[in-house]
Amino acid sequence: MLATVKPMSSNSTESIGRSDVPVLRAQGVTLQYRTAEHFITATYRVSFDVRRSDRYVILGPSGCGKSTLLKAIGGFIKPAEGEFFLNDRKIVKPGPDRMMVFQEFDQLLPWKTVKENVMYPLMRARGLSRSKAEQKALEYIAKVKLDGFANNFPHTLSGGMKQRVAIARGMAMEPDMLLMDEPFAALDALTRAKMQDELLQLWDDTKFTLVFVTHSIAEAIKIGSRILLLSPHPGQVKAEVSSLRRGEDDAGRLERWIHDALFDESPENSHV
Ligand code: ADP
Ligand code: MG
Repeated sequence: MLATVKPMSSNSTESIGRSDVPVLRAQGVTLQYRTAEHFITATYRVSFDVRRSDRYVILGPSGCGKSTLLKAIGGFIKPAEGEFFLNDRKIVKPGPDRMMVFQEFDQLLPWKTVKENVMYPLMRARGLSRSKAEQKALEYIAKVKLDGFANNFPHTLSGGMKQRVAIARGMAMEPDMLLMDEPFAALDALTRAKMQDELLQLWDDTKFTLVFVTHSIAEAIKIGSRILLLSPHPGQVKAEVSSLRRGEDDAGRLERWIHDALFDESPENSHV
């Protein structure tokens, strides 16, 4: 069942004494790409904290550096300035403690079945035996409601189902946090809404720590317990808002406030 939840399971003694330490801390992070002629600054001095069991959403317009931020949290890009800390340790390289789910449907290995796709990192990065990996894979495949499809190959699945496999693969690793980069953006509106509901259900069941990137204000409000607003390119922190389980009226008001905060010059003058 859902007993193998990461947040408390593996190092409960450590987490009891250090409950005030954020799982993730970004401290003044500037991220740059170097091209042949010049530097492109993707984010500028971005700081934020993610706490255990947060559903932390990074929201901003296209090109503001959201994917770059997520890649840097993943350890694939080094900051030009500032640092990331995971459980108080500086992030210097990728690790199985941070699992990523992307927007693209082709993130699965096409020559492996659903089950084998989920098992693969469990064996490779976690060093589980084949039978242990299989057991864990089936457990998480069931959590994303794909019980009947464990032996299917990816090309036989819909886009939404492929995303469920990618989510199962990430969660099965029981990472410190799951990083999602616009995971539902390429889905049709109905499937997208369904996947958002399922993700929230999964969170209700397991309380995993989530960092979720989107450019959709409505999606940010639906998914997020906290939302970081980034300005257009280069991404700078505009505000952080809490959107915990609001009513419909509140959600509408919050959506307008966020819109103004993202695109107006002086959102400080209005109130959520
Ligand atoms: P977002 O995910 O918010 O749409 P990105 O993180 O993809 O934004 O990109 C942020 C900025 O960095 C953009 O201006 C983009 O053009 C630039 N950028 C992204 N990837 C590269 C790259 N590999 N080389 C150079 N510039 C890049
Ligand atoms: Mg992006």
